[in-house]
Amino acid sequence: MPLSPMLDLGVYRQGDGPTMVQDTSPPTLECAFHPGRETSLRCGRCGKPICVKCIVQTPVGARCKECAQVRALPTYRADPLTVARAGIAGLIVSAVGFTLVFIFFRAFSMWLSIPIGLAVGEAISFGSNRKRAHSLQTTAAAAVVIGALLAETVQLYLRVGYVSVALVGRVLIADLLTLAIVAVLGTALAISRLR
Ligand SMILES: [Zn+2]
Ligand SMILES: [Zn+2]
Repeated sequence: MPLSPMLDLGVYRQGDGPTMVQDTSPPTLECAFHPGRETSLRCGRCGKPICVKCIVQTPVGARCKECAQVRALPTYRADPLTVARAGIAGLIVSAVGFTLVFIFFRAFSMWLSIPIGLAVGEAISFGSNRKRAHSLQTTAAAAVVIGALLAETVQLYLRVGYVSVALVGRVLIADLLTLAIVAVLGTALAISRLR
């Protein structure tokens, strides 16, 4: 189980100073983000004067917007290469998982989309080094849907010996409700692993 982002304290150093310095002297500071607004508060990390509106509460105390963001970036942002790597991992798990289910356990597709969704989410989480970026949730949805479509095409080919766009289209429409539930469930479970 990955640590929740709030508990991921690896990036915080100890002895980071007091959370907030409250001046006893009358406020003569000016908020670094709101010129002209007087304040007596400072960011607990960089010491910039900040007004009440600019304070961001973090697990280690009050921070200015910049300091709070610097700490959030490593977990919440994923570069395109990471997203691509995670997406491929998720797509492989999704395509293989759904192909096996559609061929051998077709009647249980809906139920089995739950563990497949979880596995896709886990693969994407692992492939991205446990990132929590929003782009990975979109990637997870795409991996589930594309993987299920690929699997449907493969099982159809194995069953009837050929595939055409028209044939795949007909089967998709005939199984629309099941496939929609499979896609929604799988996506929801995959995303649950990425929050
Ligand atoms: Zn700061
Ligand atoms: Zn401000």
